[in-house]
Amino acid sequence: MKNYDVAVVGAGPVGSTFARHMAEKGFEVAILEKKREIGVPLQCAGLLGKKIKKINILPDEFIINPVNGAFLHSPEDTVLSVSKEKPEAYVVDRIGYDKFLAQLAIDSGAELFLNHRVETVDSVNGVITLKNNENTKISADVVVGADGHSSVVSEAFNPHVESFQAAQYLIDVGAKRFQKDYVHLYVDSRVSPGFLWAIPLSESTARVGLFSDVNYHQSTVILNELLAKRSELKGATILKKYYGVIPKYNSQKQLVKDKVILLGDAASQVKPTTGGGLIMGFSCAEIASQSVTTALENENTEMLMNYYKDYQNQFKNELKVQLMVHRIFKSLTDADLEYMFMKLKQVGAEEIISQYGDMDSQSPLVKEMFKRGILFSILPKMLSWRISSLWK
Ligand SMILES: Cc1cc2nc3c(=O)[nH]c(=O)nc-3n(C[C@H](O)[C@H](O)[C@H](O)COP(=O)(O)OP(=O)(O)OC[C@H]3O[C@@H](n4cnc5c(N)ncnc54)[C@H](O)[C@@H]3O)c2cc1C
Repeated sequence: MKNYDVAVVGAGPVGSTFARHMAEKGFEVAILEKKREIGVPLQCAGLLGKKIKKINILPDEFIINPVNGAFLHSPEDTVLSVSKEKPEAYVVDRIGYDKFLAQLAIDSGAELFLNHRVETVDSVNGVITLKNNENTKISADVVVGADGHSSVVSEAFNPHVESFQAAQYLIDVGAKRFQKDYVHLYVDSRVSPGFLWAIPLSESTARVGLFSDVNYHQSTVILNELLAKRSELKGATILKKYYGVIPKYNSQKQLVKDKVILLGDAASQVKPTTGGGLIMGFSCAEIASQSVTTALENENTEMLMNYYKDYQNQFKNELKVQLMVHRIFKSLTDADLEYMFMKLKQVGAEEIISQYGDMDSQSPLVKEMFKRGILFSILPKMLSWRISSLWK
Protein backbone atom coordinates (compact mmCIF):
# COMPACT_ATOMS: atom_id res chain seq x y z
CA MET A 1 0.00 0.00 0.00
CA LYS A 2 1.55 3.28 -1.11
CA ASN A 3 1.70 6.10 1.43
CA TYR A 4 1.44 9.76 0.34
CA ASP A 5 1.95 12.91 2.37
CA VAL A 6 -1.49 14.05 1.25
CA ALA A 7 -4.36 12.29 -0.53
CA VAL A 8 -7.07 14.55 -1.95
CA VAL A 9 -10.43 12.95 -2.69
CA GLY A 10 -12.04 14.77 -5.63
CA ALA A 11 -10.48 16.68 -8.53
CA GLY A 12 -13.08 19.44 -8.50
CA PRO A 13 -11.81 23.03 -8.61
CA VAL A 14 -11.23 23.20 -4.86
CA GLY A 15 -9.49 19.81 -4.51
CA SER A 16 -7.21 20.55 -7.48
CA THR A 17 -6.32 23.99 -6.11
CA PHE A 18 -5.47 22.57 -2.71
CA ALA A 19 -3.44 19.77 -4.33
CA ARG A 20 -1.47 22.35 -6.32
CA HIS A 21 -0.66 24.39 -3.18
CA MET A 22 0.67 21.26 -1.45
CA ALA A 23 2.60 19.93 -4.47
CA GLU A 24 4.21 23.36 -4.93
CA LYS A 25 5.55 23.04 -1.38
CA GLY A 26 7.21 19.75 -2.33
CA PHE A 27 4.79 17.29 -0.69
CA GLU A 28 3.88 14.00 -2.34
CA VAL A 29 0.23 14.42 -3.32
CA ALA A 30 -2.31 11.99 -4.81
CA ILE A 31 -5.68 13.15 -6.20
CA LEU A 32 -8.36 10.47 -6.47
CA GLU A 33 -11.21 11.32 -8.83
CA LYS A 34 -14.15 9.04 -9.56
CA LYS A 35 -14.92 10.51 -12.99
CA ARG A 36 -13.13 9.60 -16.21
CA GLU A 37 -13.25 13.22 -17.36
CA ILE A 38 -12.85 16.24 -15.12
CA GLY A 39 -15.51 18.96 -15.01
CA VAL A 40 -18.36 17.20 -16.81
CA PRO A 41 -21.30 17.45 -16.67
CA LEU A 42 -21.48 21.21 -16.09
CA GLN A 43 -23.20 21.98 -12.80
CA CYS A 44 -22.47 25.66 -12.38
CA ALA A 45 -23.55 29.08 -13.58
CA GLY A 46 -19.85 29.96 -13.69
CA LEU A 47 -20.18 33.40 -12.09
CA LEU A 48 -17.11 34.27 -10.02
CA GLY A 49 -16.65 37.48 -8.03
CA LYS A 50 -13.68 39.69 -8.86
CA LYS A 51 -11.82 38.32 -5.82
CA ILE A 52 -11.01 35.30 -7.98
CA LYS A 53 -8.12 37.24 -9.50
CA LYS A 54 -6.54 37.53 -6.05
CA ILE A 55 -7.11 34.02 -4.74
CA ASN A 56 -6.56 31.78 -7.77
CA ILE A 57 -5.14 31.75 -11.26
CA LEU A 58 -7.76 32.60 -13.90
CA PRO A 59 -6.32 32.96 -17.42
CA ASP A 60 -8.31 35.20 -19.79
CA GLU A 61 -9.02 32.27 -22.11
CA PHE A 62 -11.56 30.91 -19.56
CA ILE A 63 -13.40 34.23 -19.15
CA ILE A 64 -16.52 34.30 -21.32
CA ASN A 65 -17.64 37.77 -20.16
CA PRO A 66 -16.58 40.27 -17.53
CA VAL A 67 -19.66 41.44 -15.57
CA ASN A 68 -20.00 45.07 -14.53
CA GLY A 69 -23.57 45.17 -13.35
CA ALA A 70 -26.86 43.48 -12.57
CA PHE A 71 -30.56 44.01 -13.17
CA LEU A 72 -32.42 42.97 -10.03
CA HIS A 73 -36.04 42.03 -10.82
CA SER A 74 -38.94 41.99 -8.33
CA PRO A 75 -41.79 39.47 -8.79
CA GLU A 76 -43.82 42.10 -10.71
CA ASP A 77 -40.72 43.24 -12.59
CA THR A 78 -39.72 46.41 -10.84
CA VAL A 79 -36.08 46.56 -11.90
CA LEU A 80 -33.14 47.92 -9.94
CA SER A 81 -30.06 48.50 -12.01
CA VAL A 82 -26.73 48.37 -10.21
CA SER A 83 -23.27 48.63 -11.70
CA LYS A 84 -19.60 49.31 -11.15
CA GLU A 85 -17.05 50.89 -13.42
CA LYS A 86 -14.72 47.92 -13.27
CA PRO A 87 -15.72 44.25 -13.58
CA GLU A 88 -17.36 42.99 -10.42
CA ALA A 89 -17.42 39.38 -11.58
CA TYR A 90 -16.54 37.06 -14.45
CA VAL A 91 -18.58 34.44 -16.28
CA VAL A 92 -16.23 31.52 -16.81
CA ASP A 93 -16.07 28.37 -18.89
CA ARG A 94 -16.33 26.12 -15.84
CA ILE A 95 -15.52 22.83 -17.60
CA GLY A 96 -12.36 24.23 -19.18
CA TYR A 97 -11.40 25.92 -15.91
CA ASP A 98 -11.79 22.71 -13.84
CA LYS A 99 -9.55 20.87 -16.30
CA PHE A 100 -7.01 23.71 -16.21
CA LEU A 101 -6.84 23.68 -12.38
CA ALA A 102 -6.29 19.91 -12.36
CA GLN A 103 -3.52 20.29 -14.95
CA LEU A 104 -1.85 22.96 -12.80
CA ALA A 105 -1.81 20.51 -9.88
CA ILE A 106 -0.25 17.83 -12.10
CA ASP A 107 2.32 20.27 -13.46
CA SER A 108 3.26 21.09 -9.85
CA GLY A 109 3.92 17.41 -9.16
CA ALA A 110 0.61 15.97 -7.91
CA GLU A 111 -0.43 12.52 -9.23
CA LEU A 112 -3.98 12.43 -10.57
CA PHE A 113 -5.86 9.11 -10.65
CA LEU A 114 -9.02 9.32 -12.77
CA ASN A 115 -11.71 6.65 -12.54
CA HIS A 116 -10.78 6.07 -8.86
CA ARG A 117 -13.90 6.16 -6.73
CA VAL A 118 -13.23 6.36 -3.00
CA GLU A 119 -15.53 4.10 -1.03
CA THR A 120 -14.43 4.54 2.58
CA VAL A 121 -11.90 6.48 4.63
CA ASP A 122 -10.41 5.37 7.93
CA SER A 123 -9.77 8.72 9.58
CA VAL A 124 -7.55 7.38 12.39
CA ASN A 125 -5.06 5.62 10.09
CA GLY A 126 -5.51 7.76 6.96
CA VAL A 127 -6.39 4.70 4.88
CA ILE A 128 -8.56 5.09 1.79
CA THR A 129 -10.35 2.15 0.20
CA LEU A 130 -11.12 2.49 -3.49
CA LYS A 131 -14.11 0.92 -5.17
CA ASN A 132 -12.78 -1.67 -7.56
CA ASN A 133 -12.51 -5.45 -7.81
CA GLU A 134 -9.36 -5.69 -5.71
CA ASN A 135 -10.51 -3.21 -3.05
CA THR A 136 -7.23 -1.29 -3.46
CA LYS A 137 -6.12 0.82 -0.54
CA ILE A 138 -3.81 3.78 -0.34
CA SER A 139 -2.76 5.68 2.74
CA ALA A 140 -1.73 9.25 3.50
CA ASP A 141 -0.52 11.27 6.46
CA VAL A 142 -3.39 13.68 5.75
CA VAL A 143 -6.56 12.90 3.80
CA VAL A 144 -8.55 15.80 2.33
CA GLY A 145 -12.21 15.30 1.47
CA ALA A 146 -12.88 17.66 -1.46
CA ASP A 147 -15.46 15.32 -2.93
CA GLY A 148 -18.35 17.74 -3.27
CA HIS A 149 -21.89 17.92 -1.90
CA SER A 150 -22.41 14.20 -1.27
CA SER A 151 -18.95 13.66 0.20
CA VAL A 152 -18.27 10.09 1.34
CA VAL A 153 -15.37 11.46 3.38
CA SER A 154 -17.69 13.81 5.27
CA GLU A 155 -20.28 11.12 5.85
CA ALA A 156 -17.68 9.07 7.74
CA PHE A 157 -18.08 11.49 10.67
CA ASN A 158 -20.94 13.91 9.89
CA PRO A 159 -24.66 13.46 9.49
CA HIS A 160 -26.02 13.81 5.94
CA VAL A 161 -25.96 17.45 4.86
CA GLU A 162 -29.12 19.29 3.82
CA SER A 163 -29.00 20.71 0.30
CA PHE A 164 -30.68 23.09 -2.11
CA GLN A 165 -31.68 21.81 -5.52
CA ALA A 166 -30.38 23.72 -8.53
CA ALA A 167 -31.59 23.63 -12.11
CA GLN A 168 -30.19 25.46 -15.10
CA TYR A 169 -30.93 25.78 -18.83
CA LEU A 170 -28.69 26.96 -21.62
CA ILE A 171 -31.02 29.10 -23.75
CA ASP A 172 -30.97 31.00 -27.01
CA VAL A 173 -33.44 33.87 -27.45
CA GLY A 174 -32.63 34.21 -31.16
CA ALA A 175 -32.06 37.98 -31.02
CA LYS A 176 -29.65 40.47 -29.45
CA ARG A 177 -31.49 40.96 -26.15
CA PHE A 178 -28.71 40.73 -23.57
CA GLN A 179 -26.10 43.18 -22.45
CA LYS A 180 -23.20 40.78 -22.03
CA ASP A 181 -21.76 42.59 -19.01
CA TYR A 182 -25.05 42.60 -17.04
CA VAL A 183 -26.57 39.60 -15.27
CA HIS A 184 -30.28 39.37 -14.39
CA LEU A 185 -31.31 38.23 -10.91
CA TYR A 186 -34.97 37.51 -10.11
CA VAL A 187 -36.54 37.13 -6.64
CA ASP A 188 -39.60 34.95 -6.12
CA SER A 189 -40.91 33.96 -2.68
CA ARG A 190 -41.49 30.39 -3.87
CA VAL A 191 -37.75 29.86 -4.16
CA SER A 192 -36.51 32.18 -1.37
CA PRO A 193 -33.93 32.26 0.11
CA GLY A 194 -32.77 31.05 -3.29
CA PHE A 195 -33.30 33.10 -6.45
CA LEU A 196 -33.32 32.85 -10.23
CA TRP A 197 -30.66 34.09 -12.63
CA ALA A 198 -29.98 34.75 -16.31
CA ILE A 199 -26.29 35.01 -17.04
CA PRO A 200 -25.58 36.04 -20.64
CA LEU A 201 -22.89 34.18 -22.54
CA SER A 202 -23.50 36.31 -25.63
CA GLU A 203 -26.10 38.87 -26.73
CA SER A 204 -28.54 36.06 -27.48
CA THR A 205 -27.53 33.09 -25.28
CA ALA A 206 -27.61 32.72 -21.50
CA ARG A 207 -27.48 30.33 -18.58
CA VAL A 208 -30.85 30.61 -16.86
CA GLY A 209 -31.31 28.84 -13.56
CA LEU A 210 -32.38 28.79 -9.96
CA PHE A 211 -31.49 27.30 -6.62
CA SER A 212 -34.08 26.65 -3.97
CA ASP A 213 -35.64 24.27 -1.50
CA VAL A 214 -38.28 23.10 -3.98
CA ASN A 215 -37.93 19.79 -5.83
CA TYR A 216 -36.71 19.42 -9.40
CA HIS A 217 -40.20 19.17 -10.86
CA GLN A 218 -41.28 22.42 -9.19
CA SER A 219 -37.96 24.07 -10.14
CA THR A 220 -38.61 23.22 -13.78
CA VAL A 221 -42.14 24.67 -13.57
CA ILE A 222 -40.81 27.92 -12.05
CA LEU A 223 -37.98 28.16 -14.57
CA ASN A 224 -40.39 27.62 -17.48
CA GLU A 225 -42.67 30.33 -16.06
CA LEU A 226 -39.72 32.73 -15.96
CA LEU A 227 -38.97 32.04 -19.62
CA ALA A 228 -42.59 32.64 -20.55
CA LYS A 229 -43.04 35.80 -18.45
CA ARG A 230 -39.93 37.98 -18.71
CA SER A 231 -39.50 40.09 -21.83
CA GLU A 232 -35.75 39.44 -22.15
CA LEU A 233 -36.31 35.64 -22.07
CA LYS A 234 -39.59 35.21 -23.97
CA GLY A 235 -39.59 32.66 -26.81
CA ALA A 236 -36.23 31.18 -25.79
CA THR A 237 -35.13 27.85 -27.20
CA ILE A 238 -33.76 25.53 -24.51
CA LEU A 239 -30.51 24.05 -25.79
CA LYS A 240 -29.46 22.08 -22.67
CA LYS A 241 -30.75 21.29 -19.20
CA TYR A 242 -28.60 20.72 -16.12
CA TYR A 243 -29.50 19.74 -12.58
CA GLY A 244 -27.30 19.95 -9.53
CA VAL A 245 -27.08 20.18 -5.77
CA ILE A 246 -25.83 22.99 -3.53
CA PRO A 247 -25.04 22.05 0.07
CA LYS A 248 -26.50 24.30 2.77
CA TYR A 249 -23.92 26.07 4.88
CA ASN A 250 -23.88 24.40 8.29
CA SER A 251 -21.94 25.99 11.13
CA GLN A 252 -22.13 22.75 13.14
CA LYS A 253 -20.31 20.65 10.60
CA GLN A 254 -17.14 18.93 11.78
CA LEU A 255 -14.34 19.76 9.33
CA VAL A 256 -11.40 18.06 11.06
CA LYS A 257 -11.26 14.52 12.39
CA ASP A 258 -8.03 12.68 13.20
CA LYS A 259 -6.02 12.72 9.94
CA VAL A 260 -8.86 14.03 7.80
CA ILE A 261 -10.05 17.50 6.84
CA LEU A 262 -12.93 18.61 4.60
CA LEU A 263 -12.80 21.34 1.97
CA GLY A 264 -15.11 23.09 -0.49
CA ASP A 265 -18.65 21.78 -1.00
CA ALA A 266 -17.71 18.70 1.08
CA ALA A 267 -17.25 21.13 3.98
CA SER A 268 -20.44 23.08 3.06
CA GLN A 269 -18.21 26.10 2.41
CA VAL A 270 -20.92 27.79 0.39
CA LYS A 271 -22.18 31.36 0.70
CA PRO A 272 -25.68 31.19 2.22
CA THR A 273 -26.96 34.14 0.15
CA THR A 274 -25.87 33.07 -3.34
CA GLY A 275 -25.06 29.35 -3.11
CA GLY A 276 -21.69 30.16 -4.70
CA GLY A 277 -18.88 27.95 -3.48
CA LEU A 278 -15.83 28.68 -5.59
CA ILE A 279 -14.45 31.85 -4.02
CA MET A 280 -14.89 30.55 -0.48
CA GLY A 281 -13.59 27.10 -1.46
CA PHE A 282 -10.44 28.58 -3.03
CA SER A 283 -9.80 30.78 0.03
CA CYS A 284 -10.23 27.75 2.30
CA ALA A 285 -7.87 25.70 0.11
CA GLU A 286 -5.21 28.33 0.78
CA ILE A 287 -5.95 28.43 4.53
CA ALA A 288 -5.94 24.62 4.73
CA SER A 289 -2.65 24.32 2.85
CA GLN A 290 -0.94 26.37 5.56
CA SER A 291 -2.25 24.26 8.47
CA VAL A 292 -1.64 20.97 6.66
CA THR A 293 1.93 22.06 5.90
CA THR A 294 2.58 22.87 9.58
CA ALA A 295 0.98 19.60 10.71
CA LEU A 296 3.11 17.56 8.27
CA GLU A 297 6.31 19.41 9.11
CA ASN A 298 5.71 18.85 12.82
CA GLU A 299 4.35 15.32 12.32
CA ASN A 300 1.44 16.36 14.50
CA THR A 301 -2.06 15.97 13.03
CA GLU A 302 -3.58 17.70 16.06
CA MET A 303 -2.33 20.89 14.40
CA LEU A 304 -4.92 20.34 11.66
CA MET A 305 -7.41 21.99 14.02
CA ASN A 306 -5.70 25.30 13.15
CA TYR A 307 -7.35 25.02 9.74
CA TYR A 308 -10.78 25.11 11.38
CA LYS A 309 -9.79 28.00 13.67
CA ASP A 310 -8.33 30.09 10.82
CA TYR A 311 -11.36 29.37 8.63
CA GLN A 312 -13.68 30.50 11.43
CA ASN A 313 -11.64 33.66 12.04
CA GLN A 314 -11.83 34.62 8.40
CA PHE A 315 -15.45 33.76 7.63
CA LYS A 316 -17.49 33.59 10.85
CA ASN A 317 -18.75 37.18 10.88
CA GLU A 318 -19.52 37.36 7.18
CA LEU A 319 -21.38 34.04 7.33
CA LYS A 320 -23.41 35.29 10.31
CA VAL A 321 -24.57 38.34 8.32
CA GLN A 322 -25.32 36.20 5.26
CA LEU A 323 -27.36 33.77 7.35
CA MET A 324 -29.36 36.69 8.70
CA VAL A 325 -30.03 37.99 5.15
CA HIS A 326 -30.93 34.44 4.19
CA ARG A 327 -33.44 34.15 7.06
CA ILE A 328 -35.01 37.51 6.19
CA PHE A 329 -35.50 36.51 2.54
CA LYS A 330 -36.99 33.19 3.53
CA SER A 331 -39.73 34.94 5.49
CA LEU A 332 -40.74 37.45 2.76
CA THR A 333 -43.87 37.04 0.65
CA ASP A 334 -44.02 38.29 -2.96
CA ALA A 335 -45.92 41.35 -1.67
CA ASP A 336 -43.11 42.03 0.84
CA LEU A 337 -40.52 41.71 -1.93
CA GLU A 338 -42.50 44.10 -4.11
CA TYR A 339 -42.71 46.62 -1.25
CA MET A 340 -38.97 46.28 -0.67
CA PHE A 341 -38.10 46.95 -4.32
CA MET A 342 -40.43 49.94 -4.44
CA LYS A 343 -38.84 51.40 -1.28
CA LEU A 344 -35.33 50.71 -2.55
CA LYS A 345 -36.14 52.67 -5.72
CA GLN A 346 -37.64 55.51 -3.67
CA VAL A 347 -34.62 55.92 -1.40
CA GLY A 348 -32.14 55.80 -4.28
CA ALA A 349 -30.65 52.51 -3.16
CA GLU A 350 -29.38 51.62 -6.65
CA GLU A 351 -26.51 54.01 -6.06
CA ILE A 352 -25.73 52.65 -2.60
CA ILE A 353 -25.87 49.04 -3.82
CA SER A 354 -23.63 49.99 -6.75
CA GLN A 355 -21.13 51.53 -4.37
CA TYR A 356 -21.17 49.04 -1.46
CA GLY A 357 -22.52 45.84 -3.03
CA ASP A 358 -20.04 42.99 -3.28
CA MET A 359 -20.86 39.55 -4.62
CA ASP A 360 -18.72 37.82 -2.04
CA SER A 361 -19.38 39.73 1.15
CA GLN A 362 -22.72 41.31 1.87
CA SER A 363 -21.81 42.73 5.29
CA PRO A 364 -20.44 46.10 4.00
CA LEU A 365 -23.73 46.78 2.17
CA VAL A 366 -25.91 45.64 5.08
CA LYS A 367 -23.89 47.83 7.48
CA GLU A 368 -24.16 50.85 5.16
CA MET A 369 -27.93 50.43 4.77
CA PHE A 370 -28.21 50.11 8.54
CA LYS A 371 -26.04 53.22 9.10
CA ARG A 372 -28.15 55.30 6.71
CA GLY A 373 -31.36 54.09 8.32
CA ILE A 374 -32.47 52.45 5.07
CA LEU A 375 -32.42 48.84 6.20
CA PHE A 376 -35.53 49.01 8.35
CA SER A 377 -37.42 51.42 6.10
CA ILE A 378 -37.39 48.98 3.19
CA LEU A 379 -38.78 46.07 5.16
CA PRO A 380 -42.44 45.49 5.89
CA LYS A 381 -43.30 46.72 9.43
CA MET A 382 -43.74 43.33 11.12
CA LEU A 383 -40.45 42.16 9.75
CA SER A 384 -38.44 45.22 10.76
CA TRP A 385 -39.67 44.71 14.28
CA ARG A 386 -38.50 41.08 14.26
CA ILE A 387 -35.17 41.98 12.72
CA SER A 388 -34.44 44.83 15.09
CA SER A 389 -34.69 42.29 17.92
CA LEU A 390 -32.35 39.97 15.98
CA TRP A 391 -29.87 42.79 15.47
CA LYS A 392 -29.60 43.54 19.21
C1 LIG B 1 -26.52 24.88 -10.96
C2 LIG B 1 -25.37 25.36 -10.11
C3 LIG B 1 -24.85 26.64 -10.32
C4 LIG B 1 -23.77 27.09 -9.57
N1 LIG B 1 -23.27 28.32 -9.85
C5 LIG B 1 -22.19 28.78 -9.17
C6 LIG B 1 -21.60 30.03 -9.50
O1 LIG B 1 -22.05 30.72 -10.42
N2 LIG B 1 -20.53 30.44 -8.77
C7 LIG B 1 -19.99 29.69 -7.76
O2 LIG B 1 -19.02 30.12 -7.10
N3 LIG B 1 -20.52 28.48 -7.44
C8 LIG B 1 -21.58 28.00 -8.14
N4 LIG B 1 -22.10 26.77 -7.84
C9 LIG B 1 -21.46 25.98 -6.78
C10 LIG B 1 -20.14 25.40 -7.28
O3 LIG B 1 -20.37 24.66 -8.46
C11 LIG B 1 -19.52 24.50 -6.20
O4 LIG B 1 -19.44 25.24 -5.00
C12 LIG B 1 -18.13 24.01 -6.61
O5 LIG B 1 -18.20 23.13 -7.69
C13 LIG B 1 -17.48 23.28 -5.43
O6 LIG B 1 -16.23 22.77 -5.84
P1 LIG B 1 -15.62 21.50 -5.10
O7 LIG B 1 -14.31 21.25 -5.75
O8 LIG B 1 -15.70 21.68 -3.64
O9 LIG B 1 -16.64 20.31 -5.42
P2 LIG B 1 -17.11 19.65 -6.86
O10 LIG B 1 -16.97 20.67 -7.90
O11 LIG B 1 -18.40 19.06 -6.55
O12 LIG B 1 -16.00 18.56 -7.08
C14 LIG B 1 -15.98 17.37 -6.33
C15 LIG B 1 -15.23 16.31 -7.12
O13 LIG B 1 -15.14 15.13 -6.33
C16 LIG B 1 -15.43 14.00 -7.13
N5 LIG B 1 -15.93 12.93 -6.25
C17 LIG B 1 -17.12 12.88 -5.60
N6 LIG B 1 -17.21 11.75 -4.87
C18 LIG B 1 -16.06 11.07 -5.07
C19 LIG B 1 -15.57 9.83 -4.59
N7 LIG B 1 -16.29 9.04 -3.76
N8 LIG B 1 -14.33 9.41 -4.99
C20 LIG B 1 -13.57 10.18 -5.83
N9 LIG B 1 -14.01 11.36 -6.33
C21 LIG B 1 -15.23 11.82 -5.94
C22 LIG B 1 -16.48 14.51 -8.11
O14 LIG B 1 -16.54 13.69 -9.26
C23 LIG B 1 -15.96 15.91 -8.41
O15 LIG B 1 -15.05 15.92 -9.47
C24 LIG B 1 -23.19 26.28 -8.56
C25 LIG B 1 -23.71 25.01 -8.33
C26 LIG B 1 -24.79 24.54 -9.09
C27 LIG B 1 -25.31 23.15 -8.81
